[in-house]
Amino acid sequence: MSDEEPLTCPQCDGRLTVGAMVLSKREEDGQRVCRVVSACDSRHIWWRWSDGLYGGLEPCPYPKLLTG
Ligand SMILES: [Zn+2]
Repeated sequence: MSDEEPLTCPQCDGRLTVGAMVLSKREEDGQRVCRVVSACDSRHIWWRWSDGLYGGLEPCPYPKLLTG
């Protein structure tokens, strides 16, 4: 399995491009894990855990992670 597999936007089915990595603490298991922030051409912003655990893409509540 590869981290580089192409992902599509659940909202518009557009291609997602990885824009940022954010280290955060995961409440489910108390681990510090990177989140991968991705955006499609329509600026829908999603993130997921870099290790692929605990579900897939979720809406990212911090869109400024990509612009700042
Ligand atoms: Zn989209």
